[in-house]
Amino acid sequence: MIVLALFYFITGICIGSFSNVLIYRLPKDESINFPASNCQSCHTALKWYHNIPIFSWLFLGGKCAFCKDKISIQYPLVELAGGILMLIVFYKENPELDYVALFKTLMVGILFIVLLALSMIDFRYKGAPDLLLNTGVILSLLYSFSLDGIKNALIFATIFWILRFILSKIKKQEAMGLADIYIFGIIGAVLDLKLGFMAIFLGAILTLPAYAIIRKKDYELPFIPFLSAGLFIIYIFNTYALEILGWLYG
Ligand SMILES: [Zn+2]
Repeated sequence: MIVLALFYFITGICIGSFSNVLIYRLPKDESINFPASNCQSCHTALKWYHNIPIFSWLFLGGKCAFCKDKISIQYPLVELAGGILMLIVFYKENPELDYVALFKTLMVGILFIVLLALSMIDFRYKGAPDLLLNTGVILSLLYSFSLDGIKNALIFATIFWILRFILSKIKKQEAMGLADIYIFGIIGAVLDLKLGFMAIFLGAILTLPAYAIIRKKDYELPFIPFLSAGLFIIYIFNTYALEILGWLYG
């Protein structure tokens, strides 16, 4: 089991490392496989040993090997977060040694790393690349591995698409990003409808302290990070969430 956990942890770190590339390149419409990894400031191509997740940043002391310019701590942090997310998902799913369970665990682990990347891009650029949104939807459907998953994703996407349409008409400006609709679909596929509504509700509540801190009236908060956080929390604590629901409905 420890060996398996380690495998998921390292896979998570590697996917985190790849998502660093996506976070930097996708919003700028740069190719994700060309040019090869290079320093952001002197653009010297990196050697393979400069590219080892977490360790390279540590042994280079957070500086480029060539121009000594600082390398953002975001790189090792996202890599580590990828590993940790995958490890949490592994213990949550606690997969038996059968292919379907192992596959589903991998899919939902990668999904949360994709949502992390989407959240960071949404925070910085107020938008989300289609490639990552579509990847997220596919991963959520592969995780649900059932027709119910597809059905729930469609129901949520449709409900919130209509809501967005109505709100946009009332406010006479675009309400909610189109990207958010994808996230609603993902939530439907991963958690079914009841828990899905709870995750969305929780995500909306989480924006309140953020609004209180920002205190700017016309600032539009990115919604993807909060929806993703709501999804993650309800996914991890699904048994407690179901207990609360049972208690609410008697
Ligand atoms: Zn450099």
